Amino acid sequence: MGYPAYLVFLTLLFSQFISASPVVIAHRGASGYLPEHTNEALVMAYMQNADYIEQDLVLSKDGHLVVLHDIHIDTTTNVAQAFPDRKRDDGRYYAIDFNLVELKTLQVNERTDRHQNPIYPTRFQGDTDFQIATLDEHLNLIQQLNRQTGENTGWYIEIKAPQWHLQQGQDIAKVLVETLAQYQLNHPQANLFVQCFDLKHSKRLRQQLGLKAPLIQLIAENDWQESDTDYNYLKTTQGLAEIATFAEGIGPWIPQVLSLKNGQYLSTGYAEQAQNAGLLVHPYTFRRDALPEGITSEMLLKALTHQLKVDGIFTDFTDVVVRFNQAQEQR
Ligand code: CA
Repeated sequence: MGYPAYLVFLTLLFSQFISASPVVIAHRGASGYLPEHTNEALVMAYMQNADYIEQDLVLSKDGHLVVLHDIHIDTTTNVAQAFPDRKRDDGRYYAIDFNLVELKTLQVNERTDRHQNPIYPTRFQGDTDFQIATLDEHLNLIQQLNRQTGENTGWYIEIKAPQWHLQQGQDIAKVLVETLAQYQLNHPQANLFVQCFDLKHSKRLRQQLGLKAPLIQLIAENDWQESDTDYNYLKTTQGLAEIATFAEGIGPWIPQVLSLKNGQYLSTGYAEQAQNAGLLVHPYTFRRDALPEGITSEMLLKALTHQLKVDGIFTDFTDVVVRFNQAQEQR
């Protein structure tokens, strides 16, 4: 005989209430195992029980939202072999120079540098014919899986380089809001987050384009040249207060919230400052295979979860963070 149902229910309710584990955001899908952002990487992250699965977006020449991290496609696909004469003067191949039908003919590989050396040599190195996915496919896949499993996995959608897209004559922020509306996902209770590094475009999404879904302001460093946003300002109390006027949270880089001294993690104070401003804190990115020397997965996850009490964690390894959360909840 098992426990009476009401006891099981109460135990579940109570454990959820007291534990409040950070939500697990599958960074580019199960990118620790399969080429990032492919439908296959999405399905694997779904099966690993991610709470949210990330889509980075750029536009194709014919205006389709495609799930790609970079405006360039030469380090994640075979475009240089398939379309050798379609590079720009800088030697790079750009997604926006290809229509969707052309992009769909490309084979996606595990990310490399510009000399074809893998960024993460221990990850997938096969030559399976993965394709570039569209946002429509990711929206459909998760909706259908949720309908069948009864789970409520969400999306975590980033528009890449919105200012650059405007310079190329396309408005990616506007296309995203229209697409979310088509899927009935542009409302405050939608199980998704929209994220953006560019402060001007984050505000534009909320204040001009009618984005109603939750919004996360990503925090970079000024020398990454991610956008013309002044990230030093966004690290101040005033900057955080400004973010809180239009967004639900921030996505800082882990070293912005934790500093490492003598093999110990210490809070920088930034996560607490943001939480005091009423903002969610979702740091990026936990990678089991790219930890600082002498640091274990558990040390980093404990620092994020127990010291900082972050609200979410971006990870290439959803399985590792989910297992960690389950172990903490069972203590
Ligand atoms: Ca991203």
